Amino acid sequence: MTFTYNFTPSDTKAYIRENWRRMTDARMAADMGMTEGQVKRIRQEMKLFKKDTGQRSDTLCWRCRNAKGNGCRWFRFHMPIKGWKAALRCVDGNESYRVRECPEFVG
Ligand code: SF4
Repeated sequence: MTFTYNFTPSDTKAYIRENWRRMTDARMAADMGMTEGQVKRIRQEMKLFKKDTGQRSDTLCWRCRNAKGNGCRWFRFHMPIKGWKAALRCVDGNESYRVRECPEFVG
């Protein structure tokens, strides 16, 4: 069964304002029956800019040897590391971090 919710322009802006930090443009677009480009344009007109691209390569962890096996507690238990410089971000609707500096980094 297909369900379509018709968002009015004010509903659209309210939905974007409420969800833009934790959801991708594509996800919001799918929820509202719009294209990703439409959502992106409206979001940018509202001055809601995503500084973080949400790409995996953005985080230091993808270049760290502690991100395997019995690695760090972030890798094993999803617990932040003391001394981190990391930014909270949203990846596919899930809370994550973009690690910029880490005292336990192993290159
Ligand atoms: S040690 Fe630091 S940089 Fe390496 S995977 Fe763990 S959190 Fe990421």
